[in-house]
Parts: sequence; structure tokens; C-alpha cells
Amino acid sequence: MPNEAPPARPRERLRLAVRGAVQGVGFRPFVHRLAGELELDGWVRNDASGVMIEVEGSAEAVRTFLVRLPLELPPHAAVTGLEPTFLDAAGFSGFEIRPSAGGAKTALILPDIAACAECLGEMRDPKNRRHRYPFTNCTHCGPRYTIVESLPYDRPNTTMKSFRMCAACQAEYDDPRDRRFHAQPTACPDCGPQVRLWDRSGNVLAQRDAAIRRAARALAEGRVLAVKGVGGFQLWADARDPAAVRALRERKRRREKPFALMVPDLAAARALCEVSAMEERLLASGEAPIVLLRRRPGAAIDARVAPGNPWLGLMLPHAPLQHLLLQDFPFPVVATSGNLSEEPIATDELRAREDLGEIADLFLVHDRPIARPVDDSIVAVVEGREMVLRRARGYAPLPVPAREELPRLLAVGGHLKSAVAVAHGRQVFVSQHLGDLSTERAYAAFTDAIASLSGLYGFAPEAVVCDSHPDYASTRHARGLGLPVVAVQHHHAHVLSCLADNGLEPPALGVAWDGSGWGPDGTVWGGEFLRVSPEGFVRAAHLRTFPLPGGEAAVREPRRAALGLLYAFAGARALEWDHLAPVADFAPAPRAALGAMLARGLSSPATSSVGRLFDAVAALAGLRQTTTFEGQAAMELEHAAEGGSGEAYPFPLDGEVIDWEPMLRLLLADLRRGVPAADVSARFHDGLVSAIVAVAARTGERRVALTGGCFQNRLLLTRAIRRLRAEGFEPLWHQRVPPNDGGLALGQIAAAARVLKGAAPCA
Ligand code: ZN
Ligand code: ZN
Ligand code: FE
Repeated sequence: MPNEAPPARPRERLRLAVRGAVQGVGFRPFVHRLAGELELDGWVRNDASGVMIEVEGSAEAVRTFLVRLPLELPPHAAVTGLEPTFLDAAGFSGFEIRPSAGGAKTALILPDIAACAECLGEMRDPKNRRHRYPFTNCTHCGPRYTIVESLPYDRPNTTMKSFRMCAACQAEYDDPRDRRFHAQPTACPDCGPQVRLWDRSGNVLAQRDAAIRRAARALAEGRVLAVKGVGGFQLWADARDPAAVRALRERKRRREKPFALMVPDLAAARALCEVSAMEERLLASGEAPIVLLRRRPGAAIDARVAPGNPWLGLMLPHAPLQHLLLQDFPFPVVATSGNLSEEPIATDELRAREDLGEIADLFLVHDRPIARPVDDSIVAVVEGREMVLRRARGYAPLPVPAREELPRLLAVGGHLKSAVAVAHGRQVFVSQHLGDLSTERAYAAFTDAIASLSGLYGFAPEAVVCDSHPDYASTRHARGLGLPVVAVQHHHAHVLSCLADNGLEPPALGVAWDGSGWGPDGTVWGGEFLRVSPEGFVRAAHLRTFPLPGGEAAVREPRRAALGLLYAFAGARALEWDHLAPVADFAPAPRAALGAMLARGLSSPATSSVGRLFDAVAALAGLRQTTTFEGQAAMELEHAAEGGSGEAYPFPLDGEVIDWEPMLRLLLADLRRGVPAADVSARFHDGLVSAIVAVAARTGERRVALTGGCFQNRLLLTRAIRRLRAEGFEPLWHQRVPPNDGGLALGQIAAAARVLKGAAPCA
């Protein structure tokens, strides 16, 4: 429908950091030619870690460039990593090959890279000495961050140190013309690691290739398999087999949270989901993340894989061992992290048997140690841009470029979805996703990541940056380091993270919406509009607060958020509204107890959290009263909006307060009339989008940064982007670091760099 085409977009600039064998192989002339063909302006140059490219032109042409680049490489070039960031046009005219960037070469610790086509070719060739060898790698692929123990990155400093190369491997390693010249993890069946298949007691059932073949047979028989992957164990089960998926769910005590899938190849991905050219590039990239894709109706997998979810998280095999398993068992498998809820994944055999002994039937293990837990990354494509939702394998610990020279800083991030970062020169090195710091093991992974990032690079921070929440484990750790501490307000860090992620600096209007963050006024923040300037921030607007009976307990019980909202609206009589699902869900005794708490204001912190408002609305709409995983109610409310319509609920702006009451009145009227949840949800989402536009219009700030965990909601994010653009604003959202607390550390660095330069403290 031509009249539904989106309005013409201005020119866009795409920055591409390309790593791999891209120097001295005719790469820059190739980029020049491809840019010319697509009528793109910009430049290319070699830099310390590969090649940097900026191209500028129509939105369509820059995306075509991104998709075609890895597919049309000159001979001998190999791309192992490629990180795109979309930026405002810079007004380039013509395309130039720029001289190489000067400056000292930083010895980057590289992320783990998916098996390359040449290695896979050797593994498939019965005449090759690496035929079906599951640790095949070369300088273009293989493990890096998960095997390095110290720098320089040489074999004795990796977990491969105990494997002595055979003569044939050594000859390749020493030959400058060989693809394995100085490939530190290189190995072959004669000298390298080997796999074994264990039962639950650790008895060896099979070794080497027989172990892989038997493991594949076990999948076909409906068994749950623990597979030692790149950065830790994964749990595998046949995704088509209801009994296998149910067994995995019951044993892992993971009732509803969606499972990620691994599929043998792109064709299998296309059979399950709609896959755009951008998404295809991501799936097949060296980073090989989990990509969130729209599932096709009737996709041939068991319904329990992702109950009621219109999206599926798919990845392709990236470790040679996974390729071999899916060669022998060419079907979609559940491939979920081998951990207990929010802990880091198990990395060694003993821990795996301890943690997963009741879950897996069989263990496919090997003797190449994993230096640190690194989970699978998760990425979604939003409005033609990649948005990283979990930054881990394939990305960590690569830097995000900074606009200017930074002080030497360590940022410790938040508490849930923890990740740390160090600033060094013009780069911010962001760690892998570390998990929920209230678990002992995540805390150990947290201190290890700090040691890895600062220790491996041999640099001592001059200051440490933390959240202003006094009780986060990360905050306490920061305060115990004996360094100057800069505390940064949670949502301020979110907004600066989003700006830095887009290569920008204040001023801007930040819309920071999440579950909760420390508010300087004694309330729990989470529905914030912050005007950020070089000096700090001003709270331009926020959601009207409501009480959360039981505080933290409300996170797992959306019905409590609903009760708090209703109480703020109507007082004690709301506790008798049994026609409402969240009220009816409470038995008389707990309801009375919560009523008393609310009446006395005990353990009922006031919050302006949009995350909790989502919970309350999901509960009122009858979708979800208690949750089994974080963000579940909001996710279900988002999915419920499919096919829904109706006028946006009003969220009037009264001074600095966005009032939810008019929304609630109409919502309750809709529920009384039996309006379907789809319409309620659509009206609620559109109402929030209108509130964003209204605040943006009042502040007059052109740039609007959408950040915080709520913007993992793609319906909310996409509608906000489109509305803001239609009204002449410039919406910004996350690309290389997550909108959730996994991106906080980057914003903390940006804030602290300003404070150290003399801006007022910001929290
Ligand atoms: Zn390779
Ligand atoms: Zn060898
Ligand atoms: Fe947050």
C-alpha cells in the first residue's frame, strides 16, 4: 500500500567497526567500490583493531551496504566481527580512503568468534586431518575471551596451555602463509582437546566422535543434554518433542520464560521465523548472537518453547561441536543457558554436574577449560537498526568508542543484569553480562570481570563510578576499593548511556523508564523524563507516584502494583472491588493485611515506575497476577496488543506530573464493558507514547533518548520512534549496549568523566 509508506527519512550515517583479516587484502578499495555502486559518501581507514568505515546516504542504501559487505569480500579477506552504529548524517560528499589512524595500538582482547567457512569445510572433508574434529579453529575463528587468562594473548596464557602442539600443528602455526599462523588455540585430533559423553554419575559412555554421535541419538530419543559450549554449558533438547521440552521445563523449574533455539542453518531459521536481510546477516555473523525474530504461524516446534510469544530467539551453531551435533541431528533444539535462574552459566564439569545433575540426562563435556562464564548474546532489529539486549559472547569485551579522551575509570553498573566497564583513552570496554549480583557466583563473576578488564590491560583506575543506590552489591564493592567514588543517579546513567551509544553528548531529553532506581527524593524512580545538559540533569517530568505494598515483593506480584494503584485512586474501598482480577486474586486475609499496610503507609514505598504501571495494567487486564520471571507481565501485555486498536488512553501532564488517573478511569470502564485485552493494551501503549510526545513538545528538546528496561518492549519503542519522528523530533534508542541495566556502566562512565572535568556532582 503505497500511501502507507513511511515518510521520507533524511540521510543516515552508518559507522562500521570491522575486525578480522581486513588489512593488506584490498579491503579498502573494495569498500570504496561498494560505496560508489550504492552512491554512498563517507570514508574508510585502517585502525588499530581492523578497519573503520563511515558511509552516508539513503536509509535503504546504507542498509544494503551493511548486508552486502560481508557477502562480497575480496579473496583472502575475512570478517570476524562487525559492529554497526547508525548516526546522524555528517554531510560527507564523495568517498575517500583516509590515512590510517595514528596512536598506540591497544592489544585488544578479542571476543569469541563463530567457526569460519574454511574450518567448517575441513571438518566436513573426510580426507582432511581435522575431519569432524570439534575444536577446529584458525586465525579467523575460534575462542578468544573465554580462553585467555592473561596478556599477551599467547598460548601459554590461555586455557590451551596444557595441550602441546603436534609437529603438523606447529608447522602450520609457524608458517606465515598458513591460515593458522599464530592461531593460539589451534589444535587437531592428535594433539588437542577431546570430547566425552558422561552419564549423570560421570561415567564415560563414549569418547571422541562416538560421543558426538551418541549425544545426537540421545536428542532424537527425547533426552536432555548438557553441552559444554564456548562460554559455558548449554542445556539442549529436541524443540519439536513435547515430552523433552516439558521435562526440561520441569527439571529446570523454569515454567514459562521463553527458551532460545539453535537451528542447523539459515533455511531452518526461515522455516520457523520471518527473517529480514539484516537479521540474516546477524544470525550468520561471527558474533552469532540469539536474534529475536517474528515467528511464523504454525512453526514446527512445541508450544512450551515460548508459550504465547509471537517472537522466537534463534541462533545458529557457532562452536564446531554444535555444528557436528546439528549435522547428526538436523532439527531445531532448545539451547538454553546451563545455570540456575539468574546465576552465571556453569563453566566446568564439576559445577555442571552439581548444578545440572537433576536436569540433564547426559553431559557432553571436553577438556578445554573455560576461563570465564560468557553467556549467549541477544540482539533484536528495531526500525532497521540492531539493538543489543544482552551483550556477552561475540561482543564482550570489545570497546564502545568514546568521543573524547576519558579519565581512567572503572564503572560497576547496577545490580540486576549487571555489567561493568572500564574507560581507557577513547574507548569504553564493556564486560559481558554478569547476571543478578545477589547470587554469590554472579558476584564472583563481577569481581573477575573487573580484574579481567583492568588487570588484563594493566591499568589502574583513578576513580570508580557506581549507582547512587547505597545497597547495591556493586555500590558497596565500589566504596570498598579505596578510590575516589562518583555516584551517578540510575536514570541519569541510563540517559547518558543511550546518548553515548549513539555517539552523542548532552543536551537531550531522556525518557528513562524501568522497574526501579534510587530516587534522590526518597521515592523509587522509574518513569522519568530527564533533561540532560553538560552540567547534569533536571527532572523535567515523571509519572505520578503510587504505593507498592510490600516493596520488592511487588516485583513478582503484578497484582500488588494493581492494588497500590487502585488504592491511590480510590482508597480503602478499592480493596472490595472483587470484579477486578487482581483484587479477586487475593484471599481475604492477605488482602486485609495489604490494606492495613497501605493505610498506614508501611513498607509501601511510593514509586513513579512505568515498569510497575505495566504490571498493574497487565494484572487489571486479567493477563497476569503473579510472575515466574522478571518482566513477564509487561511482556505479556505487549504481546496482548497484537491486533488491538482504539483511541490512546489519556495521560495528561499536570506541571511535572504525568497523571495516570484519567487512563485508569477509562481502563476500568473498558473492563466493565468487556473490551478485549488486545484493545486495552493497544490503548495503554499509545497513551504512553502520547505522553512522551507531550513532554518532548513542552521541553522543546529535539533529541529524545528512549532508555531503560521498559524500552525492551518493541511495541512501545517502535511506536514512540515513529510518533516522535512524525512530530519532528529525533528519537534515539540503544544499539551496541542494552537499554536495560546492562547498559548502565557506559552511562556511568560518561557522567563521571564530566564530574571529574568539573561539572557539578550529579546525584
Ligand atoms: Zn576458521
Ligand atoms: Zn595437532
Ligand atoms: Fe534501570
